[in-house]
Amino acid sequence: MSSSFAELGLSPAIVRALEEQGYTSPTPIQLQAIPAVLEGRDLLAAAQTGTGKTAGFTLPLLQRISLIDFARQNNRARIRVLILTPTRELAAQVADAFEVYGKYHKLNKALLIGGESMGDQTRVLDRGVDVLIATPGRLLDMFERGRLLLNDVKILVIDEADRMLDMGFIPDVEKIVSLVSRLRQTLFFSATMPPE
Ligand code: AMP
Repeated sequence: MSSSFAELGLSPAIVRALEEQGYTSPTPIQLQAIPAVLEGRDLLAAAQTGTGKTAGFTLPLLQRISLIDFARQNNRARIRVLILTPTRELAAQVADAFEVYGKYHKLNKALLIGGESMGDQTRVLDRGVDVLIATPGRLLDMFERGRLLLNDVKILVIDEADRMLDMGFIPDVEKIVSLVSRLRQTLFFSATMPPE
């Protein structure tokens, strides 16, 4: 029996954005991930690129973000959702997904990726963001310069963890995880699940 996005608990605003993309039925990873993420549960998912995993987390996150209180207290960025990806290309794809699926949502997002001007990225952070999509090295660099706070992160997404392992990013990822509050929701995606 097939199930619709609305039946998984996604809001009319999100379902409308999906319909405009021509997406009417969830993929298997979306069927499993969306209800779990909406319930606030942690997720460990073995998912290859091409299975629809990006929508599997961006769709329920959009909905959760619209429910979290985003009052900001000072001018240093307070980040509520942090998404770690191994490459700038993947970070840009995740940002595009938020753009497309979040068409009917008000959302502040920023990219923090190597190879871009530090100054421009700092200015965006100073305005405050709901969702920060980052590569691990640049994120730690900014943190160590005191340009962002990680203790308010409520949801941490680690995307393509096996590629981060291949690229030697795991020490950086572990450091970042240690800086984020333990009272958080964690979503972990990897195409393969090596013991590390
Ligand atoms: P991903 O696995 O996240 O890289 O997504 C692979 C491709 O599938 C992307 O181009 C998505 O836009 C597309 N996609 C995601 N979810 C669906 C869906 N439910 N129906 C059709 N296409 C989808």
